[in-house]
Amino acid sequence: MAIELLTPTQLGEMRPAGAFVADVLTTLVQTAAVGVDLVELDALAHELIRRRGAESCYLDYAPSFGRGPFGKVLCTSVNDAVLHGLPHHYRLRDGDLVSFDFAASVDGWVCDSAVSVVIGTPRSADLRLIEATEVALTRAISVARPGNRVGDLSAVIGATAREYGYRVNTQFGGHGVGRTMHGDPHISNDGRAGRGFTLRPGLVIAIEPWLMDTTDQIRMDPDGWTIRSADGSRTAHSEHTVAITDGDPIVMTARVD
Ligand code: MG
Ligand code: MG
Repeated sequence: MAIELLTPTQLGEMRPAGAFVADVLTTLVQTAAVGVDLVELDALAHELIRRRGAESCYLDYAPSFGRGPFGKVLCTSVNDAVLHGLPHHYRLRDGDLVSFDFAASVDGWVCDSAVSVVIGTPRSADLRLIEATEVALTRAISVARPGNRVGDLSAVIGATAREYGYRVNTQFGGHGVGRTMHGDPHISNDGRAGRGFTLRPGLVIAIEPWLMDTTDQIRMDPDGWTIRSADGSRTAHSEHTVAITDGDPIVMTARVD
């Protein structure tokens, strides 16, 4: 497992990528409203990439599990869609629970982040689901410190999910990030504390809890990308790119909203 540890200087060089990804997500959240088409939001993200001179990590992305290339710059996952939502023409409706997942490269450094929001009038169950992913993410970040292990992050995410009464699917999880979007170590959203790769200063990881209301099973759309809850229940996803340092972890993709 080749894992690159970045110097403090390199972590500094990565910050503009994190700030850009955070800004794009903030703009998307501010723009998303009843009647807005998901394809328009993808086009907006594409325009922001162009203006910044950034590079999309998704456009040409063609992993083994997908039907690549992805062809868009943004993942939009609505209601029972949870991951890798390929933007299609769909106008957002009142009460929709949507997650935006965005990764881009600036000056050769990649950051990856996702946020879930409700459009218009929220259902309390949806807010609770979003809260669970955000609390799991915050708690995982708080243990992203040198000497702790990847399993400590996994365990805290899984425990938080169960505390809220949700089951955990471990087919997709967090990952190393830096010069490319996906690297080692894999960070499962459930696992045993004290196990796995030991966190060290300079390690940069994307931590991404995602939850489904009443199932831990998924299914894929005919588009070959969009992953949904198997039972059609609602879903949420929160993700940040986080750097482990000698001091507190740095949340590269922290939003100022
Ligand atoms: Mg992501
Ligand atoms: Mg990710």
